[in-house]
Amino acid sequence: MSNPKAKLLIVDDEALMRLTLSTILKEFEYSVQTAEDGFSALAEIRREIPDVLISDLHMPGMSGFELLSVVRRRFPAIQVIAMSGAYTGDGVPPGVAADAYYQKATHPGLLFRVVKAMSQSERLSSLRDRPASMAPVWIPRNGHDPAGEEYVMVACTECLRTFPQILGKGLDGIQQANCISCSSPVQYAIVQPMHLVSPPAFRRKPGAGPSAALGTSDLNF
Ligand SMILES: [Zn+2]
Repeated sequence: MSNPKAKLLIVDDEALMRLTLSTILKEFEYSVQTAEDGFSALAEIRREIPDVLISDLHMPGMSGFELLSVVRRRFPAIQVIAMSGAYTGDGVPPGVAADAYYQKATHPGLLFRVVKAMSQSERLSSLRDRPASMAPVWIPRNGHDPAGEEYVMVACTECLRTFPQILGKGLDGIQQANCISCSSPVQYAIVQPMHLVSPPAFRRKPGAGPSAALGTSDLNF
């Protein structure tokens, strides 16, 4: 096949997960880049825009929730697969700006099928024309600076650089700040990470055997 395959960006703080996925996907002749958190993912996207972004949701630094909200707003044409071990099922968890969801540690063949379908559809103009989301960027509160002021890191949706923003009073609703690199106005909303991350209770039927705990009860042995 002479067509170059799709460009993928894999974002995960676990080095083994990055290595495993990128090794397998390169076998399928995709062009694969990796990043270890949202900040380095944005730096990678600045360098080259991927066709498909595969991102873990729970990472230190900039989480996947925040990364995906920036990507959906700034690069609506990038197709996004969120992955996590915290949600069961194959639907996109509520509040996650993604096109598909992969539950970690389930069969990776599912993930590869989604990547294949996305990389084949990526040249469809309908996706290219998807309107940019006007949703604000979500920012989890992440602590206090050395002077004791509470601050967040805001990702600029124009230049993709990040800058610290001291939080004032009145954090409800949509806030606005100007990027310190390019002066673009950036709208953001402060969220509590636990409001976004509410994994369903571990589903185990009373009295069910270990196969139910492993999620294999539907395999009809
Ligand atoms: Zn900027």
